[in-house]
Amino acid sequence: MKKETVDLKNVKYYIRTFGCQMNENDSERIAGILASEGAKPSRSLEESDLIIINTCAVREKSEEKLYSFLGRLTSLKKRKKVTIGVVGCVAQLYDSEIFEKKPFVDFIMGPDNYGKLSEIVHSNQEEKISSTSWSQDFHDFPSEKIFRESKISAYVTIMEGCNNFCSYCIVPFTRGREKFRPLQNILQEVREVAQKGFKEVQLLGQNVNSYRDTESKKGFSFLLKEVNSIGGIEWFRFITSHPKNFTLDIAEAMSEAENVCHQLHLPIQSGSTSVLKRMNRSYTREDYLEKICMLRNLMPDINLSTDIIVGFPGETEEEFKDTLSMLEEVRFTNIFSFRYSSRPRTAASRQKNAVPFEEKKKRLIQVQALQKEIQRNFNTSLIGKTMKILCMGKSKKDTQVYSGRNEGYQVVNFKSRDNVIGRFVDVRITSCGPYSLIGEAS
Ligand code: SF4
Repeated sequence: MKKETVDLKNVKYYIRTFGCQMNENDSERIAGILASEGAKPSRSLEESDLIIINTCAVREKSEEKLYSFLGRLTSLKKRKKVTIGVVGCVAQLYDSEIFEKKPFVDFIMGPDNYGKLSEIVHSNQEEKISSTSWSQDFHDFPSEKIFRESKISAYVTIMEGCNNFCSYCIVPFTRGREKFRPLQNILQEVREVAQKGFKEVQLLGQNVNSYRDTESKKGFSFLLKEVNSIGGIEWFRFITSHPKNFTLDIAEAMSEAENVCHQLHLPIQSGSTSVLKRMNRSYTREDYLEKICMLRNLMPDINLSTDIIVGFPGETEEEFKDTLSMLEEVRFTNIFSFRYSSRPRTAASRQKNAVPFEEKKKRLIQVQALQKEIQRNFNTSLIGKTMKILCMGKSKKDTQVYSGRNEGYQVVNFKSRDNVIGRFVDVRITSCGPYSLIGEAS
């Protein structure tokens, strides 16, 4: 039943994001929609009239964070009038189950439905609202409306969804099948952020390598060349890649395009061909190593990072050792490693041969200990070198120290006499830890 219409000019909103860059970019769009209607961001939950939680569903942990955060809102909702919305992949997946678990949630909205956000928050309905429909088309979003968190590095979405159905992954069920953004719209957004003074652009999508322009049918390597020719942006990166779609033409475009960083996140997930087969990843250990060889031949200085899942159903000790040997062989500069967690609707969730929790925990510790050593050795080899850093701000631990990233996307904390936030600066590396570099601006 409709009571009244809410004027968003009187609304203060708070957005909490749990998840990946795609979720962060979605939150920037949600903030943009609200801001364009006059709503103001708030710094605290207490002073908010509208609280939106945007949650990724890829790992169980994000869901746990969502429910723990909602738990914190229980007493707030009793004390004051506040509208609470759960949006993103978890909303898409569980839909009204979330109302059953947390009856004080007012609306649920899937990733394909953000266009209806102002209508929902304007309407002030008494009934709970769930909006989780799908569309086959890419919903373009006006760049000027995006409320970007950073004024230095901008996310630009190029595609959404995934057709791969890796057996552990929930994304095809929450984000749907691949949808590509028209090339001209991508280029227009990159030009706009360049004009606004952004220094770096990160092209986003669940599987960017499979990109195809809807009209010209040109692929990802063409897109890289086109964005590279736009003046003003010094660094382009992209995420996420899939080894099976990472072809020679993409590697060549990366190596030839002067503004595309020599840095690549190429998820392997496991070093064992038999596990990769059960994961439905469509490549073998050898295929992956060939891609690494191709990349390093073209770009000897490339920094590589990856994702690792330990304890996939049925993973034997031998198969796990293949992952350890893969880390030693490739020597990634960074990894994101996780214990396997079962996600609803996925093929792997129906497998019965789970690896015991304690074993998964032990394997994760082994992976992380090995990788820590690899990173420490690599970082030590950089001491004494001078490298170009894009300064993103001050260090969170020490406000006398600046923090930025190098071309390889490593964190570099450094001292500088000048305020260099938002600028490229040459930094000489003086020391390091396994997870960051330390230096001085020259
Ligand atoms: S490629 Fe696999 S892991 Fe990546 S989003 Fe698609 S289904 Fe998920």
